[in-house]
Amino acid sequence: MLQYKRILLKLSGEALAGADGYGLNAEMLERYAEEIREARDMGAEIALVIGGGNIFRGVSEAAAKMDRVQADYMGMLATVINSLAFQDVLERKGVFTRLQTAIKMEQMAEPFIRRRAVRHLEKGRVVIFGAGTGNPYFTTDTAASLRAIEIEADVIVKGTRVDGIYDSDPEKNPHAEFFSSISYLDVIRKNLKVMDMTAITLCSENVLPIVVLNMNVKGNFTRLLQGEKVGSLVHG
Ligand code: UDP
Repeated sequence: MLQYKRILLKLSGEALAGADGYGLNAEMLERYAEEIREARDMGAEIALVIGGGNIFRGVSEAAAKMDRVQADYMGMLATVINSLAFQDVLERKGVFTRLQTAIKMEQMAEPFIRRRAVRHLEKGRVVIFGAGTGNPYFTTDTAASLRAIEIEADVIVKGTRVDGIYDSDPEKNPHAEFFSSISYLDVIRKNLKVMDMTAITLCSENVLPIVVLNMNVKGNFTRLLQGEKVGSLVHG
């Protein structure tokens, strides 16, 4: 029995960049795809939302002089590039996938249709949601929360390169305090950088648990699904 059957996994664009810090790193793609393949083979239903920060962010320095909406559309397209790359690596591993985008790109992907996404998951396909929410002024964290609620996921897993939620950046502060479990309210009160406020609020209002874990530790993702205590849990 799996602890979580239907999972929405959110990976940031930066995670895919690996040590390069920019663009797509083939080794990272390969590594994450392997984790997903193993989880799928255990019977988990997996949907993915991938960020775009490794290519373009609407709120970045590079976009400082740009019209915000224009820049956000570029960010959304960046998530589609990442999604296509991830789809490719998963399919090469024999994992059947479907890419659904929030902005229609019919030659490349299906449009987002909730019922269809759920059907794909039931058939064992990994569904990748691209182009965020399809709206400017949002983030892929919010897209992940929204899609997770829509497909009635049991949990949203945020794959990062640190072990979970801390009171400050553990890569900068060696004394940062770790939270193995924390409420939505405390995340908001303490202004912890788990997800942006819109995303947290959405999860809180719909009582969707969030798990933040280190995706760079091999086997972490499957251990979580099997019921082991991995990462940090945000709950009601
Ligand atoms: N974006 C957007 N609407 C969305 C999702 C994303 O406008 O619903 C744009 C926004 O410009 C954002 C960029 O896409 O900066 C990349 O997404 P995000 O910053 O969430 O990626 P991550 O930090 O996870 O790599």
